[in-house]
Amino acid sequence: MPETPRVRTLRIRAPGWGGHQPGQHVDLRLTAEDGYQAVRSYSLAAPPDGDLVAVTVERLDDGEVSPFLVDELRAGDVLELRGPVGGYFTWQPTQHQPLALIGGGSGVVPLVAIIRARVATADGPPVRLLYSARSAEELIYRGELDDLAGGDPAFEVIYTLTREQPDEWSGYSRRIDETMLQETVWPADRDPIAYVCGPTTLVENVADLLDRLGYPRERIRTERFGPTGG
Ligand SMILES: Cc1cc2nc3c(=O)[nH]c(=O)nc-3n(C[C@H](O)[C@H](O)[C@H](O)COP(=O)(O)OP(=O)(O)OC[C@H]3O[C@@H](n4cnc5c(N)ncnc54)[C@H](O)[C@@H]3O)c2cc1C
Repeated sequence: MPETPRVRTLRIRAPGWGGHQPGQHVDLRLTAEDGYQAVRSYSLAAPPDGDLVAVTVERLDDGEVSPFLVDELRAGDVLELRGPVGGYFTWQPTQHQPLALIGGGSGVVPLVAIIRARVATADGPPVRLLYSARSAEELIYRGELDDLAGGDPAFEVIYTLTREQPDEWSGYSRRIDETMLQETVWPADRDPIAYVCGPTTLVENVADLLDRLGYPRERIRTERFGPTGG
């Protein structure tokens, strides 16, 4: 299913799938006709649905694997999949701390997996998502996020568009900085837990800024998707 011009959600049948937690990922292995293999990690985008798992992939134009997954993979093709992987960047419905979710680009995928699990939980904690993308066109899951934020005061979604903004844009228009975090994330005295995911530089900057805002390091969970970006 297309999500944006560069992003596609794939639903993969994984016979015998034993379930997973929001925030975990799978490793997908592709094998070319000449035997060359490539493995990449993709976050599980949605709660378990029988033996169907969903991943949301952004095409990097100079990438080896993502252009194939976004543009060429067809229904019925067979992939090798290993997982679920990861235990640290996960959320459990038994956690009650307010959720500060901060994502850049496709880094929003595991954060939305956490949001979807939280939606399914009665009396879960309030959620604030700060989501950075280059342009409005590149915001993944925007309709779903806007519906949630419009219909439930427990969910707040704040966007920042770093390169291009539509006319009459009322969100932020720059890279995430300390002022933006101060204005948007839960103050440290609310005892929040932060999940930060996206390009490596964004994740490292945001983790340092949250530290300066008084978030204890053990309450800042990070997942790095790639070397650069923004
Ligand atoms: C735990 C984990 C979960 C991930 N989940 C997702 C997900 O849900 N959706 C998703 O789209 N991607 C996700 N990724 C990133 C994914 O694994 C690949 O790195 C990405 O798809 C690029 O693969 P490629 O083969 O197309 O590019 P490559 O051939 O590996 O790289 C091509 C070029 O892009 C650069 N690059 C590599 N990765 C990134 C990146 N993420 N951002 C910017 N530049 C990059 C490389 O330095 C290189 O210049 C995740 C990564 C990790 C570690």
